[in-house]
Amino acid sequence: MVFEGLADKLQATFKKLRGRGKLSEADVADAMREVRLALLEADVNFKVVKDFVAKVKERSVGLEVMSSLTPAQHVIKIVNEELTALMGGTQSRITISSRPPTVIMLVGLQGAGKTTTAGKLAHMLIKQNKRPLLIAADIYRPAAIKQLQVVGERLGTPVFSLGDKESPVTIAKKGVEHAISLGRDVVIIDTAGRLHINDELMDELANIKQQAKPHEILLVVDAMTGQDAVSVAETFNGRLGLDGVILTKLDGDARGGAALSIKAVTGCPIKFVGMGEKAEALEPFHPDRMASRILGMGDVLSLIEKAQAAVDIDKAREMEEKLRKDAFTLDDFLEQLQQVKKLGSMEQILSMIPGMGGLSKKLEGAELDEKELKRTEAIIRSMTRKERRDHTIINGSRRKRIALGSGSKVQDVNRLLKQYAEARKMMKRFQEMQKSGKKLSGFR
Ligand code: GDP
Repeated sequence: MVFEGLADKLQATFKKLRGRGKLSEADVADAMREVRLALLEADVNFKVVKDFVAKVKERSVGLEVMSSLTPAQHVIKIVNEELTALMGGTQSRITISSRPPTVIMLVGLQGAGKTTTAGKLAHMLIKQNKRPLLIAADIYRPAAIKQLQVVGERLGTPVFSLGDKESPVTIAKKGVEHAISLGRDVVIIDTAGRLHINDELMDELANIKQQAKPHEILLVVDAMTGQDAVSVAETFNGRLGLDGVILTKLDGDARGGAALSIKAVTGCPIKFVGMGEKAEALEPFHPDRMASRILGMGDVLSLIEKAQAAVDIDKAREMEEKLRKDAFTLDDFLEQLQQVKKLGSMEQILSMIPGMGGLSKKLEGAELDEKELKRTEAIIRSMTRKERRDHTIINGSRRKRIALGSGSKVQDVNRLLKQYAEARKMMKRFQEMQKSGKKLSGFR
C-alpha cells in the first residue's frame, strides 16, 4: 500500500496521544521526535522534514484549544493541514488552452513510465470528451513507438509517428501540425528519455519546447526511486521549467518520500499519480485526500468518484430489476465481480475507507485479486447455461464436472456457490431495507 510504513508509524504515534486530557510540552516533543523519524524513514527529504516538524511544533505548543477537539485531535489536525500544505495544498490541474490544440509534453528518464502515462492521459481525456492525438517522439528506446501505437489502437486514438529516423524535434513539430489539420484538441508528446540525465537530452527537450510550444511540460518520474526522483525533478525544472509532475508506480511505493518532498523541494506540483499499469490507473493528485489517507482517515471522496466512473448506471438498473424479479444469475454475479474489480484492488479500496486502512493488510490472501477473479470466471464458464440460470440444480456430480472443466477443486466450486448465495441474500436484504426506508419517508 502507498505510504504503508509512514501511515502505520504516524497512526501509532497519535494513538499514544489519544485519551490524554492535556498534552504537556514533553508529550508534543516526544510525538514530534517520532514523526520526524517516521518521515525520514519514509525517505522524505531531510530539510523538508526539519521544516515540517518545526512548523507543527510551533503551532502545537501553547495552542489555543478549540472546545470541540481534544488536544491530541488538535495535533492530528495540524499534522493533517501541514501534510496537505507540504504536498501543494490544493489540487493542481492541467491547463486546457482556449485555443486548441492544448499541447502536453511528457518528459522524463527511460523506464519512468512516460509511454504508459501518455496512454493513461489520453484515456482520461477521452473520458472528458476530448479528442487527443499521441505523438511518438521516443526514437531511442526500442519498441517505444510500437508500444504507443498499440495503446492508441486500443483507445481508438490516432498516433503520429515518423519512425525512428527523424529527429524528435521534427516529429514533435510535424505532429502538432498534423493534430491541427485533423482538428484534434489535445496533443500528447511522448518524448525520448535516456538512462541518465545528460546535456544531449536536455538540449533536445529544450528544442522540442521551442518548436512545439507546449502549454504543459509534465515530468514523469518513478515514485519508487525516492529522493532520486526529487533530484531528477530539480534538474528538469531548472533546465526546462516544469508545469507539473506525474508520479508513477505509487502503487508499489510503500514509503512515499518522493510524493511528500517534490513540491516542497522543487516548487512543482504533482498533478497526477500512476497507481498501476492499466489505462485507468491514473488519478488526479489531491494533497488533502492523500494526507487523510496517510493519517488513516480514509479518502471517501476518491472512492465515490471511482465508483461513479466505474459503475455503469444502466447496468446497475438492470441488476436491480433482476433482483426484484429474483432473476440474479451466476452470470450476473460474475459481471458484478468484474465491476468491483474495476475500482482497484481490495487493498486500494480499503485504504480509502476511514479506519479500514490497517485492515487491508489482514485481508491479504482473502483479497479479490486478479487470479481469484480469473478462477471464478473459469468456474462459471464451465457451467452449462441451465446451471448458470438456476444454481439449485448444481448437485454433487455437477460440481465435480465443473471443477474438472475449470481446472479447480470441488471446494472452489462450493466456495463460489456459497459466495453467490451470500451475495443474493445480502442484496435482497438491502432491497428490503430500501423498501422500508421508502415507506418511512412516505409516511412522513
Ligand atoms: P518509458 O520508458 O518512460 O516510456 O516507460 P514505460 O511507459 O515503458 O514504463 C516502464 C514500465 O513501468 C512498464 O512496465 C510499465 O508498465 C510500468 N509502469 C508505468 N507506470 C506505472 C504505474 O503507475 N504503476 C506500475 N505498477 N507500473 C507502471
